[in-house]
Amino acid sequence: MTSRAPRALVEVAPGVLVATARRYTTTSTAVVGDDAGCLLVDPALTEAELRGLAAALQGRGLRVVAAFSTHPHWDHLLWHPALGQVPRWATARAAAVARAHAAELREQAADEAPGLALEGLLALPDGAGHVPWTGPPTAVVAHDAHAPGHAAVLARGVLVAGDMLSDLEVPLLDLSAADPLGEYSTGLDRLAAALRRNDLRVVVPGHGRPTDRDGALARLDADRRYLDALAAGRPLDANQDARLADPWTRGEHERQVRALRPLGSG
Ligand SMILES: [Zn+2]
Repeated sequence: MTSRAPRALVEVAPGVLVATARRYTTTSTAVVGDDAGCLLVDPALTEAELRGLAAALQGRGLRVVAAFSTHPHWDHLLWHPALGQVPRWATARAAAVARAHAAELREQAADEAPGLALEGLLALPDGAGHVPWTGPPTAVVAHDAHAPGHAAVLARGVLVAGDMLSDLEVPLLDLSAADPLGEYSTGLDRLAAALRRNDLRVVVPGHGRPTDRDGALARLDADRRYLDALAAGRPLDANQDARLADPWTRGEHERQVRALRPLGSG
């Protein structure tokens, strides 16, 4: 039976609501505009959860008027007709990558989010600094850490970070990049600049718990220490980075260590 129960929405700052999915602690964020229209960032994850998200927003008298995908990974590209037919934005690079890898992404989504639409992203004009919608100014902070064309958005003092600044995941590199560590470090620099803004109150990671500025700065430090250790080939365990206690995260970490190991060093 498909549940359509409205999901819990937590107001992390005035006018910003977050729902957290069961799988991977995946967050979906709604930025509310003055006219009860909202921008939905990365709605996830199962069909029942997307229906429940639509029901929860409707229950508060809100309607989705636009959407944004932070990056071209399947769990950040999901959509459901119950959310309406609205422009769904992403950076030009993210939209192009999602289009080029549509079949592969659909296959990855098939197990946990079968039948959900992944296609239909609209590319922001190159260098667009804001999401074009009717609500509060929504800045785009683009970089290529974790995935090509990744972007955080910043609205109402909330930085919706995509798969960065997580309390659960260590930095997950885009291993297809020419310089995965360099791209990640550049991405952190861009987020660090956003964290210095006067109006910044809350950071919402794509997977994990929302936090305040100090919490986000602590995660940023932990991320930089992680990258330094990875670059230096220093072994890391859960004593140095508590996020490595999780078996899935640990597995991804080991995959990164293997991928970055210089050729010929066994
Ligand atoms: Zn991702």
